[in-house]
Amino acid sequence: MMQQVDIGSRVQLRKAHPCGSDEWVVYRLGADIGLRCVGCGRQVLLARSELAKRLKRVLSSENTIQKDYE
Ligand SMILES: [Zn+2]
Repeated sequence: MMQQVDIGSRVQLRKAHPCGSDEWVVYRLGADIGLRCVGCGRQVLLARSELAKRLKRVLSSENTIQKDYE
């Protein structure tokens, strides 16, 4: 079962993005989860089931939003 994520959650995926970062920030929740790469700002949509497979861990939750990616 997948860990809970919210808008603003910072998550780490099993496979790093080509830019070298493996951290993403959740910007959209729904049937698909929107993730923005912390390294390059690229936005992607992943189905929940796909995210569950790729998710390594949740680094921070909603109440500890980090603003350094803006
Ligand atoms: Zn990237």
